[in-house]
Amino acid sequence: MHELSIAVQIIEIVHKHLPADQNLSVKKIRLRVGEFTAIIPESLRLCIDTITRETADAGVELEIIEIPAQVKCRQCFSVSKIEPPYLICASCGSQQVDIISGRELLVENIEAE
Ligand SMILES: [Zn+2]
Repeated sequence: MHELSIAVQIIEIVHKHLPADQNLSVKKIRLRVGEFTAIIPESLRLCIDTITRETADAGVELEIIEIPAQVKCRQCFSVSKIEPPYLICASCGSQQVDIISGRELLVENIEAE
């Protein structure tokens, strides 16, 4: 359950971005989550619900945009979507690949009022 510590961090990050002198509550958070992070969206949602329950952010909506895991092959230079944790080129089977997307864990947008 690494989602719980991630959820705590997300709420911390969100509050750092809000003006401290206004009592805003967070209504919506949009996240970009890459497949390599191994985060289960439903589990993350549950954790956010749990830690915000007794706070001004209770009921915050979570929008999760999942970013596919993609690699670029150093042998045939093709880009392929893969199933983590297997880092193999889908075109030629080479293991000499570089990760080009899927490691993201970003707070993309915050709505508060
Ligand atoms: Zn290849």
